[in-house]
Amino acid sequence: MSKLAKELTNLSRKAGEPAADLTIQAEGNAAVFDRKKDKFLVKASGVIMGNAKDEDWVWLELGNCVEILEDARKNGSSEKLTAALNAILATSKNTDGQVRKASIETLVHVVAFHAMEVDWSLHTHPTPVVALAASKDGAKHYSGTVFPDEAVMCGPVPLFLPFANPGLDLGLGVYLGVLDYQQKHGRNPGQIILGNHGLCTFGIGARDALGATEIAVKAARIRLGALSAGGISFVPSDAAEAIAFRPDEILRKRLLAREALSK
Ligand SMILES: [Zn+2]
Repeated sequence: MSKLAKELTNLSRKAGEPAADLTIQAEGNAAVFDRKKDKFLVKASGVIMGNAKDEDWVWLELGNCVEILEDARKNGSSEKLTAALNAILATSKNTDGQVRKASIETLVHVVAFHAMEVDWSLHTHPTPVVALAASKDGAKHYSGTVFPDEAVMCGPVPLFLPFANPGLDLGLGVYLGVLDYQQKHGRNPGQIILGNHGLCTFGIGARDALGATEIAVKAARIRLGALSAGGISFVPSDAAEAIAFRPDEILRKRLLAREALSK
């Protein structure tokens, strides 16, 4: 059994703990990239995060999935590309070689591994984040950060994207959104808020991918609290930029990323 599959199972069970309120039923997914093999493991469709087992992860070739995303970026989403994506998802195999359909949200992780230089990717539906992402001023509520640790762990500027249908449209929306963000800010987003849907965070290890999600959820609760107390006052953007890239904060984040997830 792959060591990466075991680490994913551990991450998934933590993310799926009822008290964390990140996912229920078969919501959410996680993935890890094996850079040397140019392949990644992603959750099989229908698996409950909190009950995930080592055989619930399937291997996919990154290159095949990137081809679909690139085609969609150049030529737009189409039924033909959706069929090509579904064919890839339907034939993936787990670490025991059994065919298990990969998650319909797989392309979100493909964007992370292809365009964002990270190896761990976590996508969840935390109630406070989705509440804000479903509010009429969702983008405005995510136009800045609300406390220093959010800027450090999730970056000083969140990426908020409008709703897209799960599947090719969602993957393309995230791809275009990330490319645009990189053009504008010269770096990767640390948290992506999917309108009427959920949250994506990333890491060089499982620990910082989950840590960024935990801080993003706390930051969402703070936004909801601030809205109920008269409105959000963001950390000034120059201060958020400065704290996010302070050498001691970068070191703190790196040390956290190296820590293994406790079992
Ligand atoms: Zn989702």
